[in-house]
Amino acid sequence: MEELIYFKDDELDRVNDAVSVAEELTFNSYKISASEWKRHRYDIKTLIDLKPEEIVSGPFAQIIRYEGRKTKDPLGLSHYDFYKICLQDQSILKALAENDKLELFHFVLYIVTHELIHIVRFGKFLQNFEASDEEKVMEESRVHKKTHEILKNVTNVAIEPVFEFYRAWREPLDKIV
Ligand SMILES: [Zn+2]
Repeated sequence: MEELIYFKDDELDRVNDAVSVAEELTFNSYKISASEWKRHRYDIKTLIDLKPEEIVSGPFAQIIRYEGRKTKDPLGLSHYDFYKICLQDQSILKALAENDKLELFHFVLYIVTHELIHIVRFGKFLQNFEASDEEKVMEESRVHKKTHEILKNVTNVAIEPVFEFYRAWREPLDKIV
């Protein structure tokens, strides 16, 4: 397990800003109501708020699925899926330290947009959470392409190194696996 390094306060501010923009762009793109999704479907947390089992070494984020239950439902009949996007501060900061072209706001904007697309696709049953490994790789490719489509109108040049960082995922899959 790599050393755990946490976002500092000023970094958390930028992460929060990136999350807001990612939510707006993603939900606009799918023409779905952001308020409905934010209330019932998912939460986004950084390392300080993660349980030990939600911390992973390597990925910049992971999605954990929890089973939710509506509180006014004593019989527990209406279960629903709730997703927690677990941002891995330590891996994100390591990537930024290793690549001086990457900048926190736009990097996190990409990462969170990507994870939100996964969640929208699970929610719309376009993708099963329990997919085969091969299917998961194909889904990764689809989600990276959609992330690029959503973010390509971002005018700030700082998005370009992020697109470059993920370029292989938009090319034919045999270059990756
Ligand atoms: Zn993904």
